[in-house]
Amino acid sequence: MRLLNCPGSHAAEAATPREPETPDAVRDGGTLIHAAICGDERALAQLTPDQIETKEKCERLEFEAASKYIDIEDGSHSLTREERLWLHNDELEKIFSGQPDVIRISHERHVAVITDFKSGWAGAEPAEQNAQIMALAVLVANAFDVAMIYGIIVQPNAMQGPKVSVVEYGPGEIVTAERMLRAAIAKANQPDAPRASGEWCKFCRAKLNCMEFQSRALAVELYGQTSELSHEKLLTMFDHWTVVKGMGAQLESVLKRIIKENPEAFAGKLRITEGRNMPTVDPMKAWGALSEMMAPDEFIGCCKVSLTGLRETYHKNTGGTLKEAKEKLGRILGDAVTYKKSEGSLERI
Ligand code: SF4
Repeated sequence: MRLLNCPGSHAAEAATPREPETPDAVRDGGTLIHAAICGDERALAQLTPDQIETKEKCERLEFEAASKYIDIEDGSHSLTREERLWLHNDELEKIFSGQPDVIRISHERHVAVITDFKSGWAGAEPAEQNAQIMALAVLVANAFDVAMIYGIIVQPNAMQGPKVSVVEYGPGEIVTAERMLRAAIAKANQPDAPRASGEWCKFCRAKLNCMEFQSRALAVELYGQTSELSHEKLLTMFDHWTVVKGMGAQLESVLKRIIKENPEAFAGKLRITEGRNMPTVDPMKAWGALSEMMAPDEFIGCCKVSLTGLRETYHKNTGGTLKEAKEKLGRILGDAVTYKKSEGSLERI
């Protein structure tokens, strides 16, 4: 959680206007999956087969993990999804909020299980080290009469870290966590709250005006100018880079907005180029027009077939679960599908 790591980010964000969000396939896909898990039919209808698979995995893993701490089958527990919870100060003013993806509570046993879904490829910190789960546990402890809280992170697509991790908060741990959270909130509300940059900067909209963040960018630049790059320096440079690389999209979005509002703002220095017209070829019409000029296998050689599209259509036509459709299609296609391994990406260990 950013507030614990960078108390100054609260004021920094408050002073930074929101920019219209640019489309982001991973973020937007995650929002759709979360909405579909919450029962939003319109979101469910928009999911691709891969997203449906992620949704189903999230639900299954959550069910399996939560079943270890609550008797789900007997139906005696309560279940809420995406309910916003608040923490109050002594004057009963709202000072902090959070929204667990799932809360299951056994009111008889005073046990709560909270789950946070991560649908992307980037693995989150395991639940035991995850400040967001800690804050959610404090919120749940304040909102319900519970003595034990289990915090679960479910991330079925994570390339690193466990798919499911759990942390246990007993009465003592809850008191300590609440003390930490309240101290962090108090610190964040100080006029001179310190800032500290790190991977939590990724979702902070104050990036472009933040010296602490920009010093990371400068560090990358300075290291880049050094003639001798030791392994140690390269590794430090990589750490800085993983934090600052998200700035590019935000910078581009701010600049585009300024130019759209005032085309003369950067006259002679910067402009938005013409968008490219991306061609889409209707294969049926193209074959109708070209069938006398090329052999069928030559034409097919120019066509790309989308495996996701095939899965989607096969699933729609044959019914059953997505998993069954995927497996059957895989058997039908056999060696018609070949795989080429891409080069792996860098991962800090
Ligand atoms: S960009 Fe990073 S360092 Fe700057 S305020 Fe936001 S979280 Fe803190």
